[in-house]
Amino acid sequence: MHHQLTALEQSSATFSTPIGPKMITPSAIILALGGASWPQTGSDGNWTKTLNQAGIPINPLSPANCGWETNWPHHLIPQIEAQPIKNIIASTPDLKAPGELMITKYGLEGGPIYLLGPSLRSMPQPTLTLDLKPTFSIEQLTRKMESARKNFLRESIQRWKLPIAATLLLEHFHGPFESASQLAHHTKSFKIPLQQPRPIDEAISSAGGIPWPQITPNLMLKKLPGTFVAGEMIDWEAPTGGYLLQGAFASGTIAAQSAIKYLQTNE
Ligand SMILES: Cc1cc2nc3c(=O)[nH]c(=O)nc-3n(C[C@H](O)[C@H](O)[C@H](O)COP(=O)(O)OP(=O)(O)OC[C@H]3O[C@@H](n4cnc5c(N)ncnc54)[C@H](O)[C@@H]3O)c2cc1C
Repeated sequence: MHHQLTALEQSSATFSTPIGPKMITPSAIILALGGASWPQTGSDGNWTKTLNQAGIPINPLSPANCGWETNWPHHLIPQIEAQPIKNIIASTPDLKAPGELMITKYGLEGGPIYLLGPSLRSMPQPTLTLDLKPTFSIEQLTRKMESARKNFLRESIQRWKLPIAATLLLEHFHGPFESASQLAHHTKSFKIPLQQPRPIDEAISSAGGIPWPQITPNLMLKKLPGTFVAGEMIDWEAPTGGYLLQGAFASGTIAAQSAIKYLQTNE
């Protein structure tokens, strides 16, 4: 505890400690230094500099499993903030994610947008498409509006059970609506332009890290034989729901077994 790894060389590790620097020369090293999200827990990503100094290139750490920012109109924020949009399907051109999103002051949070993160990051202009009524077709929605002649948005709150916050945003981005079928079309394919992911220190995990070509299949750093790596510090990504922990535990197990084997072979 209270040891911060500050330098790494072949078979030696240097720490800053409350009583000054300390160097150790272990027979093998396992690093599990995490990503750079939630730095208050100690996972600040500063190890990237330490590994860089040891000659290991690192793919930049970036926010993953995080909210995204968009420019909601200021006058709508008091009405839409903290409103959930439930039972939707969010999508990008190559992925669909069902679930619930939460509208925040700055944009959107929630499982579906976390899952779509890698796909959104690959888009030159990230755009989220929401199907707000995934169990109904455009034709079915239009039929439910048959007797309505005007005020389609207001009617949709009753007839389609659209949340008020969603109707306000639909109106802002795609209104006014001249017909029920036009509104049904946008309800099934509501496009929201996004600006950028939230900052990494708010994210649940980090993308980037030690590139796979820098490590052997048994998770040893090629440039520092005897040093093994595990967890989020390797460049892999997974959605929340246990998959990140699974990846961390699984790679930890492999790193530990490999370190034992390395010691048995080399001692
Ligand atoms: C708010 C939140 C919610 C999450 N929810 C889920 C979830 O529901 N499901 C899921 O699967 N995952 C979830 N995760 C992600 C999961 O916690 C991480 O993926 C996992 O903990 C990564 O494990 P790790 O061992 O690689 O790194 P970490 O758990 O980050 O551990 C890294 C450790 O290294 C230490 N360290 C860093 N640099 C140094 C250094 N230079 N010297 C010494 N020590 C150092 C840090 O202090 C830390 O103790 C969540 C994460 C957050 C932040």
